[in-house]
Formats: sequence, structure tokens, C-alpha cells
Amino acid sequence: MHGARLSRCRVPDGRSVPPASIAQPEPGRQFVVNQRILAMDRRIALRYVLDMQNNAPIAAQHVYDVAVIGMGPAGAQAAISAWHQGRDVLVLDAGEVSQRKGRAYWTKSVAIEDIPFVAPVTGPKLRAQVQERLRSLAPKETGERGVTLRGAYVLEVARSGKGFAIEASTKPLKDGKIAAQETFLARTLVVATGFEDGWPEIEVDKAGRRMLERYRAVFRYAGNGNGWHLCIRCDGHLHYGQHFVLLGVGEEIYEAALGAQDFTSRLTILTNGRPHGLPPEVARQAEQRDIRIDTRRIARHIGRGALLQGVVFDDGEELLADGFLADEGLEPNTAFLEGFSLQRNADGLLRIGESGEALRPDGTPEPGLYVAGDLVAGARKLIGAAAAAGQDAGLAASDSLRRWHWPEN
Ligand SMILES: Cc1cc2nc3c(=O)[nH]c(=O)nc-3n(C[C@H](O)[C@H](O)[C@H](O)COP(=O)(O)OP(=O)(O)OC[C@H]3O[C@@H](n4cnc5c(N)ncnc54)[C@H](O)[C@@H]3O)c2cc1C
Repeated sequence: MHGARLSRCRVPDGRSVPPASIAQPEPGRQFVVNQRILAMDRRIALRYVLDMQNNAPIAAQHVYDVAVIGMGPAGAQAAISAWHQGRDVLVLDAGEVSQRKGRAYWTKSVAIEDIPFVAPVTGPKLRAQVQERLRSLAPKETGERGVTLRGAYVLEVARSGKGFAIEASTKPLKDGKIAAQETFLARTLVVATGFEDGWPEIEVDKAGRRMLERYRAVFRYAGNGNGWHLCIRCDGHLHYGQHFVLLGVGEEIYEAALGAQDFTSRLTILTNGRPHGLPPEVARQAEQRDIRIDTRRIARHIGRGALLQGVVFDDGEELLADGFLADEGLEPNTAFLEGFSLQRNADGLLRIGESGEALRPDGTPEPGLYVAGDLVAGARKLIGAAAAAGQDAGLAASDSLRRWHWPEN
């Protein structure tokens, strides 16, 4: 697929040219995909060899100034900030070709109220607005300043000369298999792919292959005012003074309970059959604060339509509540960075340096690879913070492309 695409590529005036006649790249605009560079990526290299066997011409391929992976608040802001500095920006986002549509997308019927620039808006509507804005910035011609937005699930990123080669699936899977694959080139990269939340293991269909099949019962209640919440700072205000249930184990769930006390003192922690994992002094404080910890296994939900009302334990006893929050861990969306050795925290979130670049194990920055948003270790996982980090990353990537800098002594 990719080989066929490469062989169709043309130099800027539309002619195919044999390898020897391809000129040196014009910085930041056109770039020759050469054998040495491609050898860095096994799969691309294989296709290169196939192309050569077929006597196909080597491609001159467009190189973007800044590629942004992810169109959530962090990625969208990074793209707009880089575009605003005159950069030629590519945004690759999985939302159109997969079910990964960003965290805020899950807030299906609850309006997001804490961003000052837009009226309260649900996740899907916010996503549609951001998409429309980015589409309005599309360049009229290739290479012109603009934002090119592509639906693409990124599979792999590799170094390509001083920049990056990004391999992506650009159509929805067909029969579980990749239907179309493309490679994009960029001089700098902003990774803003966030993470996937873990979901409660209640009424889960273990045989379901896809997430939507597996968690069908859980998803019915997710993202609704009286359903499963995932972010106490986002949705705690919906449950002032009400009985609020938190599901999870360890210090993370107690952390969430501390946050929930801003809204109510009627708190219950459920562990769904696991030990609570709290240190003795924390368990003691929970008892003093009248926070009940129930370790029984949960058999099923009690609900009406999308309204979650409570749960039934394995022993048949019911627990009713007004609000529910799950904190079952997270999975960073970074599988495509496997070829890079980067610093991460215990959750797998990426550590960044002062410039916003990802850090290598020895503490030096990975040149040109910026990270922003929920994916950053220690970041507040909220829209405003993600957008601010996206702006930093988009501007830092832009700045790094300047041709000259402050003179050295
Ligand atoms: C239910 C819920 C309600 C929330 N409510 C609020 C609220 O009221 N206020 C608030 O401030 N925050 C809220 N948040 C938090 C907020 O949604 C996140 O902090 C924010 O979305 C993080 O932005 P991000 O850009 O880092 O990542 P995300 O918004 O998660 O975006 C990541 C993007 O990367 C894309 N992506 C993932 N993998 C790939 C890949 N391999 N290739 C290409 N693209 C990929 C996804 O399609 C997605 O578009 C809520 C979160 C949840 C879960």
C-alpha cells in the first residue's frame, strides 16, 4: 500500500524522476526519502526495497514543519500556535478512523463548564468545533502556511534524518485489518495523544474483542450526570451534598475521595473484590472521616436508561448512590513511540524538560520531540492545562525551526 503510494509520488512540477536526478532538499519543504533514512524503519525500508525491485522512482515527499499527533485540547492548541507563527502544520488524529476520540469526548451529556472561551459544551460538540476550526485553516496549496488535518491512527514514529517519519493507518480498520497506511514526514513533532481511562470491571463481556463490546454495560452510564464519572474536578460539582461512590483501590482512590470532599462528606469507596491497599494511617483517617470502604465484589449495575442508581454486590445486597466515579488506572496512547527510549512515571506518562521536549533516560531532551497535555507526567488533567501545554509545545517546536538565533559570545 505504502509502496504503491511512494511510487506515485512526484517532484513538485508533477514529473516522476529517477533517483539520481533528485536535487538536494530545500530546507523544510521538500525532502528526498533516501535509503539510509528509510533503513531506520524496518517496515518503510522493506517497502523501499520493493519499490526499487519494481523500478519505481524514489519519492520526493512533502515535509511539514510541525506534525502534531492528537487533536484534543493540547494538540489543537499546539497546531494553532505553530500555524500562527507561520509554520506548515500537519495534524494526525485517530478520532475519525477509530474509537479513540479523546478524553473529553466521554462527557456525552454533561456540559464542560470550566473553559472561559466557549459556552458550556458537551465533549462531542467541543470536538466538532475544534475540528471545524482546524479545517478552516487548511492550506490552499501544499507547502503554504496552514493546518492540514488528517484522520489517522499513528502506528509508529521513527527518526528520519533530522526529523521524523510517521507511519499511520488512514482509514477505519476493515475486518480488523489495516485498510490504508501512509507515511508522513515532519521536522518537529508534538505528541498530544493523551491516555485511555481504565473502566470498572462490572458486567464486562470478556469475550468482546473491541472495547465498546467489552464494556457495553459500563458505557451506557459513562459521561452522564448520574453515570460513571472519571474526573472528580470535572464532575464533582454535580453532586453537592449527595451520596457519592468512588470505585478503585490504593492511594489513587483516596486521593479522589479527598477531592470529592469539596462537594460532599457522604462518601463510600468500593474496591470490587480487591483489598483496599491503603496504608494503615490512611485507612484510619477514612474511618475517622466516616468514609465507608466496602471490598465486596460487584455483580451488576442498578440503572434506568442511562441513569445509574446503584450496584448489587455478589451477596445480593444493594447499594444506592447519587454519583459514581471510577479510577481504574490509565493507558497512555504512546505505543507508536516504542522505538524511542524515554523517561516515564509509574503510570507510563512521559516526563518532559523545560523546553517541553521528551526526556531520554539520561535526562537530555529528545531533539524535536515535544509532548503536551494529559500525556505529560505531573500535568493537571484538565482542558485548560492541556491547551496551555499545547501552546508551549507548539511555540517551542516553532522556535526550534528558526534559521538564526541570539549570537553566542
Ligand atoms: C468524562 C470526562 C469529563 C471531563 N470533563 C472535563 C471538564 O469538564 N473540564 C476540564 O477541564 N476537563 C475535563 N476532562 C479532562 C479533559 O478531557 C482532558 O484533560 C483533556 O481532554 C486532555 O487533552 P489532551 O489533548 O491531552 O488529550 P485528549 O483530549 O485525550 O486528546 C487526545 C487525542 O489524541 C488522539 N489519539 C490518541 N491516540 C492516537 C494515535 N495513535 N494516533 C493519532 N491520534 C491519536 C485521540 O483521537 C484524541 O483526539 C474530562 C475528562 C473526562 C474523561
